[in-house]
Amino acid sequence: MLITCNPCCKTPEPLRPSLLVLGGGLSGIAAAIRCARYFPDVLILEQHVRSGGLNSYYYRRGRLFETGLHAITNFAPPDDKKAPLNLLLRQLGMTRGALALRAQAGSEIRFSGGKTLAFTNNFTYLTENVAQVFPQSLAAFKQLAQWLRDFNPFAATPGVHFRSARAFLRQRLPDPLLTDMLLCPLSFYGSSVENDMDLSQFAIMFRAIFFEGLCRPAGTIKDVLDALLKRYQELAGAIRYRAKVTAIIHEGGQARAVRLEDGEEIDCRFLLSTIGHSETLALLGKETAEERPRLGFVENIVSLPKSSLPGDKSIVFFNTSAKFRYAVPDESVDFTSGVLCLPANFLDCHGEETATACLRTTHLANYEKWRQIATDRDRYQAEKQAVFVKSLAIARDVLGISCANAVYEDSFTPLTVAYFTGKRHGAIYGAPDKIKDGDLGFTNLFLAGTDQGFLGIIGSMLSGVSMVNRHILPKL
Ligand SMILES: Cc1cc2nc3c(=O)[nH]c(=O)nc-3n(C[C@H](O)[C@H](O)[C@H](O)COP(=O)(O)OP(=O)(O)OC[C@H]3O[C@@H](n4cnc5c(N)ncnc54)[C@H](O)[C@@H]3O)c2cc1C
Repeated sequence: MLITCNPCCKTPEPLRPSLLVLGGGLSGIAAAIRCARYFPDVLILEQHVRSGGLNSYYYRRGRLFETGLHAITNFAPPDDKKAPLNLLLRQLGMTRGALALRAQAGSEIRFSGGKTLAFTNNFTYLTENVAQVFPQSLAAFKQLAQWLRDFNPFAATPGVHFRSARAFLRQRLPDPLLTDMLLCPLSFYGSSVENDMDLSQFAIMFRAIFFEGLCRPAGTIKDVLDALLKRYQELAGAIRYRAKVTAIIHEGGQARAVRLEDGEEIDCRFLLSTIGHSETLALLGKETAEERPRLGFVENIVSLPKSSLPGDKSIVFFNTSAKFRYAVPDESVDFTSGVLCLPANFLDCHGEETATACLRTTHLANYEKWRQIATDRDRYQAEKQAVFVKSLAIARDVLGISCANAVYEDSFTPLTVAYFTGKRHGAIYGAPDKIKDGDLGFTNLFLAGTDQGFLGIIGSMLSGVSMVNRHILPKL
C-alpha cells in the first residue's frame, strides 16, 4: 500500500483508502473504527478543526464547553449482552470502562396543570409514576410497554416508510395527555418529524430513554471522543482535519474520488458519507427540492451557583401550553416547551470543583427567522441575549429556582449548527425522510449518520457501524 504523510495526524494517510469517511462526527468515527479493525487503510475527512460534529466541544476563557451533550441514552448494565450500547462497544472492540459512563440522578416530564412524570434508569419507577398520575391508563401503559419490548423496530414492512407513533398511541392510550407526555422527551431527543415520530423510531427511543436510561461520561464529551480516536489510532486509521469535501467525483454509478476545497483529489474504493442526504447529493451535483420542514433548536448555556440548583434532577422535559407542539415555530423560538439539562446531576460525575454549575436550556427554533435576523449582526446578538433572558425565566419557573446570580455563557441558534457542521437549516436530526438502508444508488457510496435514521450519540454510532457491516465489509 502506498502512503503519504498526513500533517494533521501522526498516523500515515493512505493514498487510495479502502474506505473514505466523509465527516468526523460520531457516526463517521464509529464507522471508521469498525472498518479499520479489518482494513487499516481508512481515512476520515473532517471540515472542522476537531472531531465530534454536533457533539463536540470548544474552549472559551480557558474553559471547556460541550456543544451538544445533555445525556447519552441506552444506559444498560454491562452484562446485558444484547443491549445496543454493549453491542456497539463489542463491534468497536472497546470496553465499557473506556467511556466511564455515569447514570442519571433522575429526570422529569413536566406539563402544564401540574402534571409530572418522573423517571430514572429503572423502568418500574416510571410505571409507578404513571400509576399515580394516570391511574385509568395504567393497564394500557403496561400493555404498550410489553408491545414495545416485543416489537422489532428493525424489521421493515415492505413498502411502508412511515407509521405514525401518535396515531398508534391514540389507539392504545385512553388519555391524550399521557401520549403527549411520552412523546415530549422522545421527540426532543430523537424526532426529525413535526408533531409525530415514526413508530420504529418511537420504539427505539422509548427503549433508549425509558427502558435503558440516561447517562453521561464522568468528565465531558471530549473524554468520549478521545477514547474513540485513541482506539482508531491503535488500528492505524487516519483522520484529516480542515478537509472540507466540495465534490464527489463519480461515473457510471460509482464514486471514484472526492475533491477538497483547495482542489486536491483523493481516490477511494468505498465512500461512506455521514454529512446528510441532501448535503451528499449536493456534492454529487444533484440538487434536491426542499421537502418537509426541518426542525431546528436553540441551546443556551448558563452558570448558576450550585446552591440554587436542585441536586436530584438530571434532565427536565417541559411543556407549559395546553397542547404540546413539536414543530417549527412561527417566531424565532418556541418557549412553550423545551429541555432543561443539569450536567452536574449525574451520579459520581467529576464535575468542576467550583461553586457554580451549568444549566443548559433547549427550545425549538425557526431557521428562516434566524437567517433574517442575522442579516443585521447587532440584531442577531440582541436577539440571542433576549432569548437567553426569556429562556432563563422559564427555567426559573419550571425548576422553581432563583436565577439571581446567573451568568450567561453562550448560546447556539440553528445558524450556529449549520455553520459548524454543514447541516442544512441547522437541523440537528436532519431530514424528516430517512434512507434506512443507506443505499444512494451507487455501487460503492453509502449513507450513514443522521439521515440514515438512527439519531443521537449511540444511534449515530450504531448507524456508522451497521452501514459498514452491511455494505462495505462484505465487499472489501
Ligand atoms: C445542541 C445539541 C444537543 C444535543 N444533545 C444530545 C444529547 O444529549 N444526547 C444525544 O444522544 N444526542 C444529542 N445531540 C444529537 C447528537 O449530537 C447527534 O445526533 C449526533 O452527534 C450525530 O452524529 P453524526 O455523526 O450523524 O452527524 P454530525 O455530528 O453532524 O457529523 C457530521 C460531520 O461531518 C462534517 N462535515 C459536514 N460536511 C462536510 C464536508 N463537506 N466535508 C467534510 N466534513 C464535513 C461535520 O463537520 C461533522 O463533523 C445533540 C445535538 C446538538 C447540536
